[in-house]
Parts: sequence; structure tokens; C-alpha cells
Amino acid sequence: LVWRGIMSQYTPMMQQYLQIKQQAQDAFLFFRLGDFYELFFDDAILAAKELEITLTGKNAGVPERVPMCGVPYHSAENYIHRLIEKGYKVAICEQVEDPATAKGIVKREIIRVVTPGTMMESKALSDKANNYMVCITEQDGKMSLAACDLSTGELHVTSALSSQEWLRDELGLYEPSEIIGRIDLIDEVYKQASQMGRKVLYTEWDKSREELARRQFGEAVWARLDEERQTCIALLIAYLSETQKRSLGQLTHINAYEPENYMILDPFTRRNLELVETVRERSRKGTLLWLLDRTETPMGGRLLRRWIDKPLLSRRLVEERLEAVDKLHQGFILRDDLRGQLKGIYDLERLVGRMAFGTANGRDMLALRDSLLRIPDLRQLCADSPSTTLQAVAAQMDACSDLAEAIGSAIVDDPPISVRDGGLIRQGYHEHLDELREASVNGKQWIAELEAAERQATGIKSLKIGYNKVFGYYIEITRSNLGTLPEGRYERKQTLANAERFVTPELKEKEALILEAQEKMVDIEYDLFTDLRTRVSNEIARLKLLAEKVAEIDVYQSFATVSAERSFVKPVLTDRYDLVIEDGRHPVVEAVMDHASFISNSTDITEEEANIVLITGPNMAGKSTYMRQVALLSIMAQIGCFVPARQAEIPMIDRIFTRIGAADDLIGGQSTFMVEMADIQVMTERATRRSLIIIDELGRGTSTSEGMAIAQAVIEYVHHEIGCKALVSTHFHELAHLEETLEHLRNFSMAVKESGDKVHFLRKLVPGAAGSSYGIYCAQLAGLPGSIIDRANLLLDRMEQAATITVVADDNNAEHAGAKPASLQNTKEQPSGSAEKGAASEKTDSVQESASSYHY
Ligand code: ADP
Repeated sequence: LVWRGIMSQYTPMMQQYLQIKQQAQDAFLFFRLGDFYELFFDDAILAAKELEITLTGKNAGVPERVPMCGVPYHSAENYIHRLIEKGYKVAICEQVEDPATAKGIVKREIIRVVTPGTMMESKALSDKANNYMVCITEQDGKMSLAACDLSTGELHVTSALSSQEWLRDELGLYEPSEIIGRIDLIDEVYKQASQMGRKVLYTEWDKSREELARRQFGEAVWARLDEERQTCIALLIAYLSETQKRSLGQLTHINAYEPENYMILDPFTRRNLELVETVRERSRKGTLLWLLDRTETPMGGRLLRRWIDKPLLSRRLVEERLEAVDKLHQGFILRDDLRGQLKGIYDLERLVGRMAFGTANGRDMLALRDSLLRIPDLRQLCADSPSTTLQAVAAQMDACSDLAEAIGSAIVDDPPISVRDGGLIRQGYHEHLDELREASVNGKQWIAELEAAERQATGIKSLKIGYNKVFGYYIEITRSNLGTLPEGRYERKQTLANAERFVTPELKEKEALILEAQEKMVDIEYDLFTDLRTRVSNEIARLKLLAEKVAEIDVYQSFATVSAERSFVKPVLTDRYDLVIEDGRHPVVEAVMDHASFISNSTDITEEEANIVLITGPNMAGKSTYMRQVALLSIMAQIGCFVPARQAEIPMIDRIFTRIGAADDLIGGQSTFMVEMADIQVMTERATRRSLIIIDELGRGTSTSEGMAIAQAVIEYVHHEIGCKALVSTHFHELAHLEETLEHLRNFSMAVKESGDKVHFLRKLVPGAAGSSYGIYCAQLAGLPGSIIDRANLLLDRMEQAATITVVADDNNAEHAGAKPASLQNTKEQPSGSAEKGAASEKTDSVQESASSYHY
């Protein structure tokens, strides 16, 4: 730590620095010196580089100058944010006594350690996203996870039997910017998070403060928590209090939940389905969240995201949400009225967070008041609405009008940003303040009168009385008029180039009175303001509950608004097995292309008929869009939103697995095939009958025969052992023969129309397998040279002739697996025309056989 040399050689100030630095070894220490924060030693070298500021040096008692850099106090916030964004911590060390009265070195202390997970400053936070810090613990074979957003005061906790997958899935929901816990637990998580390409700050942390946590939430709340969850929260609270060094008043409530009450979506599935972030650009635009977000308030936006992250498994709860959405969907006037009120409500949660944190200013106070003034009307609209869900929400809304009134009577209409310079408090709020104001106004009046009187007496018209911070009030007379000024009338104070400044004893006396009044006023205003802030902080639990209700209403209206605009319908939720969608659409693909050109497709997955849908068809035919569509509709229904379809009957699905597309390829250096196999392993272990499995291009990434063998074995396993709903696409047309042997599997394909050597994608799902994958046709479309295309066609013909022999050998295996023999010869004769190898060479001018019977 000590740069070079021994402690006693350093100047006293540097010794103080070094002592304090010991308490913040993993952070940049911003050491306050007058109007600057200075950094020294290695901190300075690194910060100068990261912030692109000049590295200098300071004499500190030792022979060599100590490396130093600094940032001005008033612009420090920006520099701090930049360091936090880069994944560092910043410890802020302030002078904690008045330098004017201090004996020796001014006392300094770290007043807060800013970390990525504990940012409070609104500039650094995005409106519609939470900023979570997560703590992970393990105890008696159970893992617990606590996630806290200090800026909104949310705190969630959950636990489950120890498992890395569980941890990964749960963490995927929070996308924390910071994680703390025991190093061995975090280590694994770190690898996973870095695979997902996220920046997360890790701190090993094992200091627990149970008594602190117990006090924070109160005995009753604490006692209701399971022991392992208590441990987790106690650890988190210890970290927060050690870094923030102040009350955590915004944490009033613990949301303890059971993971099994929500649909499980692993991080890959969430990415594949582009729920909150697109695969390629990692943007919000183009996601389900983006599509459904018509919220008017930041807390509504954040709640929407949490709902999308956690679809419900309780049909009753989903139906409650749907009831509200339905009524708002019908009542567009009500919807508009609600939107009108919501628009006027600011970010209640973050305002409240800043109140508790002690950083709220006069403008925050007014924003809170203005928001609260909207509540009575909003509540009335809900209470008068035909929706029982909204009525229930209204009944739980407390408009906190006492607070609105208190703020309104105290704070002026246009308060300044600073709370330390006065000008915040209304006339008539505080008697003594009003008296002082009057004194100050009278004083200023007196000065104005003095100016007039002295002009008269001296006959100098340009005489004026001015004020500056250094000299106070003065009488100024220009050089050209000095001659007419009677000698000794005023005391000389300051000489300027073309004027002379004077004072009189009377003026000094008045000045003292005015300044004293002003100083007192500022102090009184500050005290009144902080009293008010404390009063509001004491009501945080009420305000947070209110914010939650506002957010809920906002999400309902958002769902209803989108549903109305995009012709979504209310899904029927069932406890049955079957998933039946008539004319479903992919909500996002439909939205980004023009609505009319999207081709709808139905889904009919039933226990009786078929629970496995095997889809063949060429690239670009629309297979993965269709499969994603089915998953998205389930999710939309289970968060309580309407769905894009003519009608939909949706069972409660407990988990969705996807293995789709190229998105996850090359993660962490693993091969596509290994990633796929690892996903399938988890799937075989975790899927239940109530799950939905989606696999795109099963078995790619290894040799054809191996890939096909694995694909068949996996499909058989899903069929025999799991029995869940599954949509599987494959380019192995040979797999179509499985329809013969697997009772609950049906072949489908994406219809394609061929004419001459052109292929036209109809994007319509039809029964029966596809004839060809048109891979060479795609290559042609992509503009490959004609000679390559011709050669490829020739090779394909040859290979297909050779393959017939291999496939016959496969038939024998089918018997071995206990399935009905389904020779390819037989399949080929099927009227549905599945898997015939001849199809590619049998190009016709009509619609491909598989489609013809159905589509035309
Ligand atoms: P595949 O998985 O078969 O290769 P995709 O599902 O990726 O095909 O679809 C390819 C493209 O076709 C998509 O980018 C989309 O623009 C379009 N598409 C897919 N399904 C439809 C549909 N039902 N209606 C209209 N266009 C569609």
C-alpha cells in the first residue's frame, strides 16, 4: 500500500490518507482536499488512465513525489459514474469537520462507497430498468439468492435445492450489475455470466449482520423468513450498510417467493425468444418487452419487465390480470383516462429511494407532490371501472394526501436544484423565516434609499451601491466624478481602474444585519427541508405500496392498449394438457413487417392426437418463427396479456426449453454441438409433462448419421419418457418416418411452391413432411456461381443414390427399438409424400405434394 518508504516519513496529511485507504483497498479513494477530490499512488495512476486526466505528483515527505490526480468537487459525479461503469468501486472521503475550526489536520472519513449495484444517482440509471445487486449463499444443501435495487427499494429473496442451473436461471432474471457472496459460489456464477457477455462486479463477502437486518425489517417480518433466506439477507444488508454508511430506509419490505410458482425460463431461452433483449444487437427494440411496453410511468415499465421475466403458474392469478386487461380492452375511454392520469406521475419508487437516501431535493419533493395529486382521480377511475381487479387495486390505494399537503404548503413552486442555498420554502410556512426575510427585504430597501439619498447629496448621478462576496456592500464612484466628492465623506475601500469603492459605518452595520439574516434564512430553510424529507421518509412503506399499485394499473393499460391496437384476443387458460391456437401470429415479426403480409398459423397440440410436432422444410421457410410464436403466445397468456390469434386455448406451462438457431454458438469456446447436448441434458432432467420443448435443427453440428441417430433417440425419449409438448424442426427428412412408430408424433412442414426453378415460400404450416430442403436453391439465391450450383446438384443425386443403402440398414434398427418397421420404401409411398428422396429431382410446376392436399 505505501508507495515507497515508511509511514512516519510521510506528511501528516498523507499519513491520514494512507490510513483511510486501508479501509477501501478494493476501491478508488476520492480524497477530499478543498474543492477537489484527489487520488494518490496506484489509484492515481490507474484513474488518470481510465478517466483520461493528467497525472501529476505531490511532495508528501518522502524523496519521490507521490503520483496524484484530481477531479473538481462539483463535477465529480460524472467521473464517479465513469469508473463505476467500468466496473470499479469508488470510496468517497469527505472532510467531516469545518476546516476553519479544526485543530491540525481536518478530520476525514469515508462517507460512502459507490458500487455498480448501489448507484442511486438518477443520471446513471435507466428509467425503465432495475439495477440489481445480488447476494448468493448456500446452507444445508440449499442455495439462496437475494436481489436488491437500492434505487427503488425492492428486495426479493428466494431459495431452492442447490443447483447451478437454478442459480443460472434465477440470476438470468435479475441481470445484476454486482454480485456478492462466498467466493466458491460466485466463481461458477462468474464464468456463466461472462459467457453471457455481461459486466458484473464481484466481491467476496462473508460478513453478516443479522441483528442489523432484523432491525431493518422488524421482528415479525424477519421471523417469517426461512433460516437460509435470513442468512442471505443478513449478508446483503451487512454489505449495503458497510458501503452506504447510512440508513437504508427505502428497504421496508422483503418479497420472498418460491421459484416453483413461476414458469421457468433459462437465460438461453429468454435470449432465443428475445423477451427483453434481441439476440444480435442486444437491444430492447424488437423484443417482446418492446412490443408490449405502452406504459406511461417508469415503475410500470419496470413491473412489465418483471412480469415478462416471471410468467405465472396460477391460473387464478393470471385470470385476475386478464380480467382487468379485458375490461380496459373494451373500454377505450377508460383506458385513455387512465393513461392521462398516469402520464402525470413521476418515478415514485426512485423519488422515494432518494428521500430515504437523503439525496432528494426541492424538485424531487414537488415531483412527489404532483404525482400524489393525481392519485385520487386515478383511484376513482379504477373504483368506478367495471373490472373487479381494478376495483380491488383502487381499494388498496392510499393517496397519501397528508404528504401531498405537507409538501405543497412548504415548498415553493419553482425550487432551485440545491437545497443549501435557500429559496425553497414558501412564505407563511415558518414565522421566524418570514421575519428574517422581511428584515432582509427591509435592509435591501434601506440600501436602495441610501443610494438615492447619496446621489442627491453628492450630486453624482452615476453613484451606485453594489455588492460582492469579498468586500460586501460598497458605494462606487467613477474616477471622473471623484473630484466632486467631498473629502472624507466615505471610507476608501478598493481602487479599480476607473472607479473607487467606499463604505460608511452605517452601510457596514446594515450589511452585517442583512448577511446574518440571509445566513440564518438559508440554515432555517435547510433544516425545514430536511425535516420535511424525514417526515416523508417515515411514510416510505405507504408510498412504496402506492407505487406498486400505480405500476400494476399501468401494466394493465399497457397490455390493453397493445392488444387493442394489434388485434390480440383474450386467451382461454386451462388446466388441461392441450394447446390449441387458431391462426396464431408471431407478435414481434408481425409488428416489424407490415401486418397484412404476415401469414398466420394454427397449432393443435393435444394429449390424444399429438404432443410432438416434427417440422421439416427448407431454410427460410418460417420454421423457427413458427416455433417461437407458440412459445411467445404461451408466455404472453401466462403474464396476463392478450395474444395474437383468432382464438387460443392455453394450458399452464411450467417451463419452456428452447434450443434455437445460431445465437448460442461459440459461447465460451464450446462447440455448437456440445452446447446443444448440454442443453438437451438439462432438458431431459428437468422437463415435466407440463413443459414445452422447442428444438430447432436438432442434431446439427455433427456428422449426418450421428446427428440423425441422436435426434431420433432424443425425440423417442421425449415421446416415451417425458410426454411434454414439443416442437422440433429438423433438416433430416429421414426422421419423418418416426410418425410411423411414435404414436404421438405428427409430421408437419412449411409449404413451398415450386415453379420452374423458382421456389416460393408460403409460410404456411401443413401436415406431412417436406420433400426437400432446397439447400442448393438457397445457395443459388445467395448468388453462388452457376458452376458450383450445377456441381452440387450432381453430387446430391449421387449421394442420394448411395444413401438408400444406409437407410435400409436403419430399418433393422427400428425393429430393435421396438417400433413398427417403417422402411423408407414404405414412407415414400405415403400419400403425404414424406421424406422421399426423389422429391428434389422431381421438381414440378405445381405446389409441392406435401402442401397440395391441404393448402389448395
Ligand atoms: P426457418 O427457421 O425455416 O429457416 P425463419 O423462421 O427464420 O425460417 O423465417 C425466415 C423469414 O421468413 C423470417 O425472417 C420472416 O421474415 C419470414 N417469415 C417467417 N414466418 C413468416 C410468416 N408466418 N409470415 C410471413 N413471413 C414470415
